[in-house]
Amino acid sequence: MEAQADPEFPEDVPPTMENSLFLGAMFDSKDALRHAVKMYSIRQHRNYTVFKSKVTFVDYRCKWYNNPCKWRMRARERDYYWEIMRYVGPHTCVTPTLTQDNPKMD
Ligand SMILES: [Zn+2]
Repeated sequence: MEAQADPEFPEDVPPTMENSLFLGAMFDSKDALRHAVKMYSIRQHRNYTVFKSKVTFVDYRCKWYNNPCKWRMRARERDYYWEIMRYVGPHTCVTPTLTQDNPKMD
C-alpha cells in the first residue's frame, strides 16, 4: 500500500485510511467527503445510499437501513470544509461484493 499520507500535510488526509468516517471528521469539500464514503464502503464492504443530498448537507444511510442496520450519517457544509455532524453506527452488515466502483484496491 503506497498511497500513504504525506506527514507534512496531516490536515489534508483523514486520520486513517481504513475508517475516516466519524463524528467531527472534516473534509476539504463535498467531493472529498464523497470519496471518503466511497472508500470506506469499498474497504469495509459496507453498502450505502445517498438518502438526501442538498447544497449544504448530505445524508447517507445504509442500503438496508432499519432492516436491521441503523447506520447513517450526515455531513454539513461549514465555512470552508465539510464536517460529519451526525454519525449513528455501527455499520454491521457486510456486503460480499461491491460493484459501484472499481474494487481492485490491492
Ligand atoms: Zn448497514
